[in-house]
Amino acid sequence: MTDLAFTITEADRLPDAERAAILADPGFGNHFTDHMVSIVWTREAGWHDAEVVPYGPIPMDPASSVLHYGQEIFEGLKAYRRPDGSIVTFRPEANARRLNESAERLALPHIPESLFTEAIRQLVRIDADWVPGGADQSLYLRPFMIADESFLGVRAAERARFLVIASPAGAYFTGGVKPVSIWLSSDLARAGRGGTGAAKCGGNYASSLLPTRIAAENGCAQVLFTDSATEDTIDELGGMNLFLVRSDGTLLTPRLNGNILDGITRRSLIQLAEDRGLRVEERDITVREWAEGVADGSIVEAFACGTAAVITPIQRLVGDNGLLVDFGDTAPGELTMSLREELTGIQTGIREDRHGWLDAIAPAPAEV
Ligand SMILES: *Cc1c(COP(=O)(O)O)cnc(C)c1O
Repeated sequence: MTDLAFTITEADRLPDAERAAILADPGFGNHFTDHMVSIVWTREAGWHDAEVVPYGPIPMDPASSVLHYGQEIFEGLKAYRRPDGSIVTFRPEANARRLNESAERLALPHIPESLFTEAIRQLVRIDADWVPGGADQSLYLRPFMIADESFLGVRAAERARFLVIASPAGAYFTGGVKPVSIWLSSDLARAGRGGTGAAKCGGNYASSLLPTRIAAENGCAQVLFTDSATEDTIDELGGMNLFLVRSDGTLLTPRLNGNILDGITRRSLIQLAEDRGLRVEERDITVREWAEGVADGSIVEAFACGTAAVITPIQRLVGDNGLLVDFGDTAPGELTMSLREELTGIQTGIREDRHGWLDAIAPAPAEV
C-alpha cells in the first residue's frame, strides 16, 4: 500500500508572467498552485487511486458526511527555497504522525506515513516553480482528510479522501516582526476535557471564530484560550502555542494536557532552547502567574508559535476587565527574536540542520 503509484494528469499551467506576479506578493491562502493530490480510502480497498491532478473543485455528494458531521482533519507545513535554489520541507514525518493522531480521534482512517510524505513530494516537485525564494516566503502545504461517504447515518465513515493543496505564502509580518495584543477568552472555549482539542480538526477552528471576532472588536489579533474547567490555566491560542520567558532565560509553556495541539514549532523550539542549555518547563501555567510575573519582573517575554507565522511576539494580554499584561516597549523580546532567527535560519538553509529536520525535495537547478 505504501508503494501506491501516483497517476499524474498535467494541468494547463498558469503562464510564467502571471505566476511571477502572484509570487511577488502572495499574501496568505489566496492563490493555489496548478496541481493537487487526491487519494481515496474505502474500508474494503484501503488507500487507492493516488493521483496528482489539476487543481480544481472536488466532486461532493450533498449527503457527504463531512458536510453534516464535520469529519475533517488537516495539517500545515511549508516548503522553502534555499539560497542555492534547492527545495526542502520541514519535519514532514511529524505532520504525518500528527495527522494520524487526529485521524484516530475523529474515527478517520490512518494513512501510511510514507504515503503522506510521498504525496507532499509529488506535489512540491510538479509545482516547484511555485516555491517562492524571497525573504520569509514559502509554499504553504495543506494536507487534509475528509469523510466523503454519502450517508446520513451517524458513524465512522467507510469512505474518505486525502488531499494536498499548496498556496504560496508571503512574509507574515511585512515591514518587520510586530508584537501583537491578544484577547483572553473567559467564557468561550475552543476545547474541553476529553474533547477534540488535541486533534487538528476543522471543528476546533469553527468554535474559535466567534471568540476571534470578539478579540478583533477589542483590538486584539488573536485569542488566548484557558482550560474550560479552571478558566485560569492557559491552553493556547486559536492556532498557535504559547511560551513565556523568565528573566533567567527559562522558557515556560503549557504541558500537553489533552486540550492543546502538539505543535511542531513548539516542539522544535523546546529542542533549540535545550540545545542552548536553557531550561524548559512544560507544566500548568495560569493567567495569574503570567500577570504577577510581569508585574514583579520575573517574566520578561511572551510569544506564540506555529507554522504560519513561526513566532509572533506578544505585547499585551487583554481581558473583559481591561489590560492584564503589558510588556510595552520591551516586546519583541531578545530571546523571542533570537529563537525565531535560529528556526527560520534552519528552515531556509542559512543555519546548519543539526537535527536532520529538513527533507530535501528538489535539488538546486544547476544539479539537475
Ligand atoms: C496547527 C496548530 C498549532 C501550531 O502547530 P505547528 O505544528 O507548530 O504549526 C497550534 N495550535 C493549534 C490549535 C493548531 O491547529
